[in-house]
Amino acid sequence: MEKIIILKYGELSTKKDNINYFIKTLKQNIGKVIEDVDFQIYYDFGRMYIYVKEEDIDYCLDRLKNVFGILEIIVGYKSNDLDIENIKNNVLDLVKAKEFNTFKVKTKRSNKNYPINSMEVSRLIGGYLLKNIKNITVDVHNPQLLIEIEIRNNEVLFYFNGIKGLGGYPVGTLGKGLLMLSGGIDSPVAGFLTIKRGVKLEAIYFESPPHTSDFAKEKVIKLCKILGQYNANIKLHIINFTEIQETILKNIPHEYLITIMRRMMYRISAIIAHNNKCNILVNGESIGQVASQTLTSMRVINEVVKIPVIRPVACFDKLEIINIAKKIGTYDISTLPYEDCCTIFVPDHPVINPSLKMATEYENHISYEELIHKAIKNHEVININIKEENKYQDLL
Ligand code: ATP
Ligand code: MG
Repeated sequence: MEKIIILKYGELSTKKDNINYFIKTLKQNIGKVIEDVDFQIYYDFGRMYIYVKEEDIDYCLDRLKNVFGILEIIVGYKSNDLDIENIKNNVLDLVKAKEFNTFKVKTKRSNKNYPINSMEVSRLIGGYLLKNIKNITVDVHNPQLLIEIEIRNNEVLFYFNGIKGLGGYPVGTLGKGLLMLSGGIDSPVAGFLTIKRGVKLEAIYFESPPHTSDFAKEKVIKLCKILGQYNANIKLHIINFTEIQETILKNIPHEYLITIMRRMMYRISAIIAHNNKCNILVNGESIGQVASQTLTSMRVINEVVKIPVIRPVACFDKLEIINIAKKIGTYDISTLPYEDCCTIFVPDHPVINPSLKMATEYENHISYEELIHKAIKNHEVININIKEENKYQDLL
């Protein structure tokens, strides 16, 4: 019998109207991550089947663990022998080496010309196993070993409990978003959670050389490489924020520095999002974490853009965020000690309840439209290709 990879879909099987689109996108996403090997993919509404050479199976499993939209990844077996006596013996051969006390056989018969119906096939196989293996019983509700049989036109598939996939929606099925990515802990986690919902991300990073170093930028590039494993690469927009920040520092009362600085970041992000067909902004703001993340601050800052701003970690506490960061492999990079542009200009007493009127008034002291235009015109784009890294993490 040859080995075959079988995938069970996650939540996408509930999306009735566009299920086809979801599955096709998943197929494409899978095709991209295993493009280095020869493969064939077939699918129906219940499962996806990947045929690869036996020696490539482990490589493919490693890649598939990072693909959203997959609930379960199973290595199964296929045989071209549809004779029921041989099916029974094949199942016995496969399960003999396994340790279990309870089991259930579940048969799916897509080949409607097959003379025995699914219930009967399950019953025949179950009976055969009970006769040939000692100390096992059938448990239809909570079996230790679930034996699944699929009778197709020219082949029979056999498979058992698989490993958990990442779940979520296939990346790209929900369009594109722009992640405001700092070198901190929160924003990569916010990015991961958004990709999981099927949103393809680009990222934007604000740097302030020489106040921020190249190490800080390297850190963000590394974070993009990790996020890119789930996202099929990431386009990173880097904005030189120095002139804007220095102008703010010179002209704005210090307790409003952060408020105004973040309003500028939002304005620039909204324009970059628009120019790159991104429908949402995503960031790592968390309610109450710092002065700029009180509800009043969020309202005054958010006021400058119309585009929806999604804050996946808004209601998580720091420990919850850290736990996810550790699981997805961003924590060790996020905690490297390089300064971010937000931290270098932190005033002693940032305003906790900024007023929209004051913020607008202060801003009018600077010709920010011009500065924003210039920063966008000169911005740098890096297409981060994860293939060059060729290094995948062990995930969730
Ligand atoms: P993080 O929140 O990612 O841990 P942080 O705590 O340094 O980093 P905050 O000051 O909490 O960042 O900023 C809130 C959010 O604003 C960040 O999660 C990120 O989405 C965005 N942001 C902050 N600084 C930058 C930056 N230099 N470039 C891009 N986005 C940024
Ligand atoms: Mg934060």
